Amino acid sequence: MNAPSPPPVPADASPMMAQYLAAKARQPDALLFFRMGDFYELFFEDAEVAAETLGITLTRRGKHQGGDIPMAGVPVHAVDGYLARLIRAGFKVAVCEQLEDPAEAKKRGSKAVVHRDVVRVVTPGTLTEDSLLEAGRANRLAAIAVRGDRAALATVELSTGEVESLAVARDQLGAALAAVRPSETLAGDRLFADEAVASALKMSGGVVQPMAQALAEPKAAQDRVERLYGAATLDGFGQFEPVEVAALGLIAAYIETTQAGKLPALKAPRRLAEAGFMAIDQATRVSLEIDRTQTGNREGSLIAAVDRTVTAPGARRLAERISRPLSDPAAIVARLDAVGWFLERRDSRRALRNDLKGAPDLARALSRLALGRGGPRDLAALRDGLARAAAVLAGLAKAGEPLSGYPSEVAAACEALTPSDDGAALAVDLDRALVEQPGHLVRDGGFVARGWSDDLDAARTLRDDSRKVIADLEARYQTDSGLPFRAKHNAVIGYFLEIAPKYAEGLIRQGADSGFIHRQTLANQVRFTTVELAELDARISQAGDRALAMEVEIFDSLRQQAVNLADALRSMADALAELDVAAALAEWAEEARCVRPLMDRSTVFEVEAGRHPVVEAAVTREGEPFTPNACQLDGAGETARRLMIVTGPNMAGKSTFLRQNALLVILAQAGCYVPATSLRLGVVDRLFSRVGAGDDLSRGRSTFMTEMVETAAILTQATDRSFVVLDEIGRGTATYDGLAIAWACAEYLHDQARCRTLFATHYHELARLEGRLEHLGNLSMRAREWNGELVFLHEAGPGAADRSYGVQVARLAGVPPAVVCRAQEVLARLEGQEAPPSRLDDLPLFATGPHTPAPPRRSLVEAALQDIEPDDLSPREALDILYRLKGLKT
Ligand code: ATP
Repeated sequence: MNAPSPPPVPADASPMMAQYLAAKARQPDALLFFRMGDFYELFFEDAEVAAETLGITLTRRGKHQGGDIPMAGVPVHAVDGYLARLIRAGFKVAVCEQLEDPAEAKKRGSKAVVHRDVVRVVTPGTLTEDSLLEAGRANRLAAIAVRGDRAALATVELSTGEVESLAVARDQLGAALAAVRPSETLAGDRLFADEAVASALKMSGGVVQPMAQALAEPKAAQDRVERLYGAATLDGFGQFEPVEVAALGLIAAYIETTQAGKLPALKAPRRLAEAGFMAIDQATRVSLEIDRTQTGNREGSLIAAVDRTVTAPGARRLAERISRPLSDPAAIVARLDAVGWFLERRDSRRALRNDLKGAPDLARALSRLALGRGGPRDLAALRDGLARAAAVLAGLAKAGEPLSGYPSEVAAACEALTPSDDGAALAVDLDRALVEQPGHLVRDGGFVARGWSDDLDAARTLRDDSRKVIADLEARYQTDSGLPFRAKHNAVIGYFLEIAPKYAEGLIRQGADSGFIHRQTLANQVRFTTVELAELDARISQAGDRALAMEVEIFDSLRQQAVNLADALRSMADALAELDVAAALAEWAEEARCVRPLMDRSTVFEVEAGRHPVVEAAVTREGEPFTPNACQLDGAGETARRLMIVTGPNMAGKSTFLRQNALLVILAQAGCYVPATSLRLGVVDRLFSRVGAGDDLSRGRSTFMTEMVETAAILTQATDRSFVVLDEIGRGTATYDGLAIAWACAEYLHDQARCRTLFATHYHELARLEGRLEHLGNLSMRAREWNGELVFLHEAGPGAADRSYGVQVARLAGVPPAVVCRAQEVLARLEGQEAPPSRLDDLPLFATGPHTPAPPRRSLVEAALQDIEPDDLSPREALDILYRLKGLKT
């Protein structure tokens, strides 16, 4: 959402207003938070928008071109909460800070304005604060670029420093974008004219930020990326396609503006290979409910069902794995090895999970420190993270095996957790330097432990002892004068002595002779100072300032020490996340009785007793058993079936069966054990699922149009390595249209795409394709009628279902008995009539070959002509016939 544009700067504007308007002019599309002391103030329309969005008071301050200036403010200490709400409402916020002490400004003259500038623009994709981020969810900024038939997706996670780049065929951009679910996506403004790209951007769910197309030009983009990394060339990071550099360039440009020139410590961009991942488009993700349900909740999604991680970085890593499964069997096997290792070592696994529980988010703390946005608490997070890393490493060593015997992923994690000398030194320093629970802000001080710096301890003693001296002074004044003085302090006048007005009169009358100097008279109190107290006050505040300055210095040096080790610390954070994921998947595997999938490069999909992890959990909660099901598909075998038509009554479990098999593919390729007694899987390159139809009115598409768009994507993109799940194609239109479309799709998938396919349908006529299409078979979900009631067995068996049982299901659903009875009557009549299948012979479906057109039907005119014998007709009869023929329709 765009912020209101700035008003013009009039010649008579006050210096501060001129400063405000100049800053706002540089950030026209952001709400400007203008720091004034303890508040961030918003002015003009920004104030009105913020007041309405945040429910804060709208006031007025000064005049601008004859009118009042609307103003609204939020206190600095509570800014995060307000920022979070504005960002969630779709705004960008530019934070304009005071860059000097007001006292400094005063030295330039009483009218001088405190120097201020925008230090950061807060946007959804560039958040780094814990209070603005979801702990268990990655927060990515993405950028896309397109050149010819190639497209690129670059992503950065500013909160952890991860940068990735992926080049894909143009038609795979949507799937690539869907896999990363960015919070904000940058795209050159010219791209919005391309309907497919615009639609992919819309489907991605995050905020979309148009960028000037020139920023994606190769040379400019390359220069920016090099500047971002402080590198003379990008060659050291690998060979990027020009389209990837364009996308990375957009990110670099956006970081430059939003971070106001502060460079985050980013990892080198990781170049992903398109072939390394299974492509899953957004429609498939939605229908399979991978990371959230169709109603938008995490609860009930695949990830939620599987997630047993104990740390937020672990949860993010697991979500990433499941959202973007691999397609290289060797890489999948490496992940499975780690899971298997922890599965076999229950004690080590439990110990590891205990060590990890409550571990801080190392990577996010480090990123904040690198961006100059971190505080003492982030240093403490590093300290605690390093301690956890050491404990985890020691625990793994206790497994008592030589490192060479560990699976590669666990061995690599152990290596990353072994600190270098500098890392060990940092751990010791942080341990000694920080108090147990430091505060949030550097400027509050008090975070450096006693014993770390003699100078600091001395300044603190002076400050604290002086406080004691004040207490002694207060007692002395009370005794000497016999008056009940109280020594107090405030930020404006420092230390003072306070007394009730009835005692003050005499002192004020005596003036300086009393030794007490009058400072202030309030309604109920009068304030005095003394020469001695004023001197002490100065000493205390100097000591306090000195102590704070020293703490700031210590913070900066520790921060620098940590940032210098950023790469090693990040690897440690990665290792902890990987171990958390492997151990969590082992935990789930044990709990859900999972097996290790066998992965290869064949086109086999062979499951024994497979289960749907989410539906199983739901039915088990209800005290019902879940019925496991087998499924066999083979894309290549001579006699193998690669396309199964699945029929059965409503509610019999068709959708569950279909999705379950697709989810097994995802889990296996993500490197998880799977809920089945065995699974053999030839890796899938693209997974498609079209389950259930829903209107997409926001994009102006009807149910049927959405269904056809998604079906078209499947038909054009599926390859012989793909896995397709289709549920009820063609239901959104008239019966024959729908059946014809479903039929043709099945034939195409069988003959052309040759992918492994599960095709559920209510068109029982499709079952007739078995025998006509060599690699097609029938499966049906079993149900039994018992005492007039329908009993679902949820069992998939060979063969087609005989009927739909729709009326019985309607009764189960509570449709009134009168309607059910009438439906039964109508059904009986319809079934008594000539059955629809024979009429289907009128369609080209049952012609000899799938692609042979049926012989054309004779028209009425042709039929009439056929019966005429011209030689037997009188001229009068011929004329009558001519009139009759003219009256007939073709
Ligand atoms: P429709 O054709 O109406 O969409 P369907 O045949 O696709 O129905 P599902 O939605 O898959 O049926 O399943 C209906 C319900 O049956 C599920 O919500 C679940 O409670 C139960 N169910 C499905 N499969 C099983 C199973 N294998 N074991 C136990 N219960 C199951």
